[in-house]
Amino acid sequence: MVRRLGKVLIDRQRIHARVREIGRQLSQDLENDLRAEGTDAADSPDRVVMVPILTGAIVFVADRIREMPMKLSMRMVTVSSYPGQSTMSRGAALRGALPQDLGGRHIVVVDDILDSGHTLALVKELILEQNPASLRMCVLLDKKVPRKHEVTLNYAGFEIPDEFVVGYGLDYDGYYRNLPEIVTLELE
Ligand code: 5GP
Ligand code: MG
Repeated sequence: MVRRLGKVLIDRQRIHARVREIGRQLSQDLENDLRAEGTDAADSPDRVVMVPILTGAIVFVADRIREMPMKLSMRMVTVSSYPGQSTMSRGAALRGALPQDLGGRHIVVVDDILDSGHTLALVKELILEQNPASLRMCVLLDKKVPRKHEVTLNYAGFEIPDEFVVGYGLDYDGYYRNLPEIVTLELE
């Protein structure tokens, strides 16, 4: 089975404009939370923790945190769902340990795309066991498909149709993450 790049769904200008918007919105919402608990966003150490889901979220989170002028830290999580050359979801499995210091903090889970919901449902459930002060789910792409798990998103960059896409962190068999736009992948 050979696959090749198809059409550009979202170009780099649209991505960057939306990433800026989400960064600003998220900063505002987190600052409101911190104000409500009487802490100062600018210098409260380790109240806000980004949890990007590797590897797909790296480009999105790298661009987005640079739109967030506040003190924050990062904890990575690895979940696998599309091993190798498959483009079908096969459920989700955590690889390695989940960071254990999320309790009482404001957590933002960041992923590239919400598809069946397996990945975010799993990560959400595991983080909630630690009793965070707040938990937000943020994705760049929201794929319009029937979910296996309902997941409520707090921030979503774009809705896309049910097509397999690559670029801006999303891969096929490990490649294409470096494309600056979101592109469909087509069967040849
Ligand atoms: P879910 O667990 O919601 O089915 O899938 C989420 C994960 O599957 C994402 O983190 C991403 O790694 C992968 N995924 C889902 N749809 C796509 C897609 O269209 N393209 C790529 N490259 N990965 C996808
Ligand atoms: Mg992923």
